[in-house]
Amino acid sequence: MNKVVKLSLICEQTDKDGNKIEHGEVYKILWELQRQTREIKNKTIQYCWEYSNFSSDYYKINHEYPNEKEILSFTLKGFVNDKFKKGNDLYSGNCSTTTGNVCSEFKNSKSDFLKGEKSIINYKAYQPLDIHNKCILIEHTNNEFYVRLKLLNRPAIKKYNFANSEFNFKIIVKDNSTRTILERCIDKIYDVAASKLIYDKKKKMWVLNLVYAFDNKSEYVLDKNRILGVDLGIHYPICASVYGEWNRFTIDGGEIEKFRKTVEARKKSMLRQGKNCGDGRIGHGISARNKPVYKIEDKIAKFRDTANHKYSHALIQYAIKNNCGVIQMEDLTGITNEADRFLKNWSYYDLQTKIKYKAKEVGIDIVYIKPKYTSQRCSKCGYIDKENRNKQASFVCLKCGFKANADYNASQNISIKDIDKLIEEMYNSSANTE
Ligand SMILES: [Zn+2]
Repeated sequence: MNKVVKLSLICEQTDKDGNKIEHGEVYKILWELQRQTREIKNKTIQYCWEYSNFSSDYYKINHEYPNEKEILSFTLKGFVNDKFKKGNDLYSGNCSTTTGNVCSEFKNSKSDFLKGEKSIINYKAYQPLDIHNKCILIEHTNNEFYVRLKLLNRPAIKKYNFANSEFNFKIIVKDNSTRTILERCIDKIYDVAASKLIYDKKKKMWVLNLVYAFDNKSEYVLDKNRILGVDLGIHYPICASVYGEWNRFTIDGGEIEKFRKTVEARKKSMLRQGKNCGDGRIGHGISARNKPVYKIEDKIAKFRDTANHKYSHALIQYAIKNNCGVIQMEDLTGITNEADRFLKNWSYYDLQTKIKYKAKEVGIDIVYIKPKYTSQRCSKCGYIDKENRNKQASFVCLKCGFKANADYNASQNISIKDIDKLIEEMYNSSANTE
């Protein structure tokens, strides 16, 4: 089923050198795209009309309709689309969406045109811009939603001095239902479909009529007795497994590490520059001098948000595939600055929040357990000893000799029902007997 949500947009465009482009300038370009769209639509109708006339003349002589492909060496849609490969600024995917729509519209009303019941369509000014679904990217950063729309073709990128084909907008989110729709689009619970960008003359702003599609794929019947234990780990940012099974879900932290290193290096060099005031930002006060550093913070937040979305999504997919109706995670409240976590500054809280909310969408229950001793306990025999972990990355049980990756062993413990109570009881009973 398809639905539409209207999104008012605020222009956030920069040129290829990173300078802000005033929204008035951006509007001018968008209006030019509208003008071109209108022209393309009217020309397309003309092509359709001409071909239709040719086709009926052909029929009169040959008593059969011509073969499109033989006459045009394309289908009619393909033929028309080919005519607009050059001579406009539109991104090719959007342009073919437009011509395709017009061809379909013509076909549907053709008999009415021929009977004279409908006059041939004449597209007026302020045509909406068609946007192919692959040209729409919604993002969530710092509690704001943004959308990137690919609108320009290669020559136009140059012409307008853009960095790429994209226009960037901040989305005005006016209510919770809009927020939920956007979140679900990001999480691919809803699929974004071809949409339209429209100029609202009354509000004097651009509006995206975002089309999204959903089926009932969010309804799964999963086994509530199969618990996926999720360890936010040392070697891997995430390691998850079902008790007694060797299969595991891991996220390789390489991507985060690499990003962190480049960012740290860049931040250091910028702070240094800022201190020495040697780069032209002198005299603009501390805030101006540190601006690039804030920009980096923004970039980190954006990267983290995107990565956490991706990781939580992958984890939920794994749970579904493995028929796990429950996910157990560590209750990290009260735990601060745990030195042996994969990344001290990585927002595990954000990651858990995203896992929780995505789990809810598909009917997976979340259970929090107290993580005390889960990394020191042997998941095979239950023996707890600090010395069980000889190295950060590996676990060797001093009692039974069980060997495993330390994160995997922890995730095995976390996947046991009521593990925290079990550990507590064990401690109490051993204290009683001693
Ligand atoms: Zn053991």
